[in-house]
Amino acid sequence: MVVVLKQNVSPSEVAEINRRLEGFGFSPRLLGKRRNNIVIDIDIEPDVLKGLDLQTLPWVERVVPLNNPFKLASREVRGENSVVRVGRAAFGDGSVTLIAGPCAVESRKQLLEAARLAAIGGAKVLRGGAFKPRTSPYSFQGLELEGLKLLTEAAAETGLATVTEVVDERSLEMALDYVDMVQVGARNMQNFQLLRAVGRVEKPVLLKRGMSATVKEWLMAAEYIMSEGNEDIVLCERGIRTFEQQYMRNTLDLSVVPLVKQLSHLPVIVDPSHATGRRDLIIPMARAAVAAGADGLIVEMHPRPDEALCDGKQSLSPDEFGQLSRDIEMVSRALGRVF
Ligand code: PEP
Ligand code: MN
Repeated sequence: MVVVLKQNVSPSEVAEINRRLEGFGFSPRLLGKRRNNIVIDIDIEPDVLKGLDLQTLPWVERVVPLNNPFKLASREVRGENSVVRVGRAAFGDGSVTLIAGPCAVESRKQLLEAARLAAIGGAKVLRGGAFKPRTSPYSFQGLELEGLKLLTEAAAETGLATVTEVVDERSLEMALDYVDMVQVGARNMQNFQLLRAVGRVEKPVLLKRGMSATVKEWLMAAEYIMSEGNEDIVLCERGIRTFEQQYMRNTLDLSVVPLVKQLSHLPVIVDPSHATGRRDLIIPMARAAVAAGADGLIVEMHPRPDEALCDGKQSLSPDEFGQLSRDIEMVSRALGRVF
């Protein structure tokens, strides 16, 4: 069960509340602040709870019986949708927000061309990996600091916000000075040290679902971040591993979009690029994701996909990206949503 305290409760009042709860025989755990409300977790049986009448205490806003292991991230603790702002972009306010760009930052020319295309196509956020977690140690690993600087330059020219993946605490430290949002990739979704580290910074986090993570594990990863104080999390479904290996890179689990929006107040976006691994499937899956209620999309795009150093097969060409943009606009409009 969690107790959501009223806003503006002072630290001494919180201490008093804890003493009172301990007086009832509980061991309350301060979970941190959910927006402006302090949330306290107590292990208690529902019938014991009924007899206590905690609701009538002056500093209590809400008592929420909760069976989920995720608490701060749960819909029960916060009824309304969380809106995560990144530059001019908003995730979770009902609009459809597009993140686009190459898998990896490769050169100034490549990134600036991609950024211009992204802006023309209606993207609000530019993606580009500067630290690439590759399957092979011999594959291109990213430009690191130089890549981060290029992202800043592209942002200044186009007005786009930027997101880049961080793979450890060192890359996180470096990225903080250069980008507007940090991504925790599928491979690091259960890197709990990294989750805690991004939880301590004041940048929004794009949290991808691990390729074999259950919904609960994914939301627990968000809980790790929130438990350290950072509540600006955008969840991203990017496909999961199934028995299908031959024709698709992963299997897009689109049902998590409406499901996770029931379970959590956090915004959810979809990455049809990594989900399918094929450029010919990205547009239909993007349309379906918007129709399913996703708060946005993240897609890979490259000025010359055949020359891409990373994920070229799933990178849209400039023309295909233009088509994606028109299709998203159409589906959004049909649903009364702003793109
Ligand atoms: C990426 O966004 O380029 C990436 C590596 O994604 P994922 O972690 O989903 O594989
Ligand atoms: Mn990629």
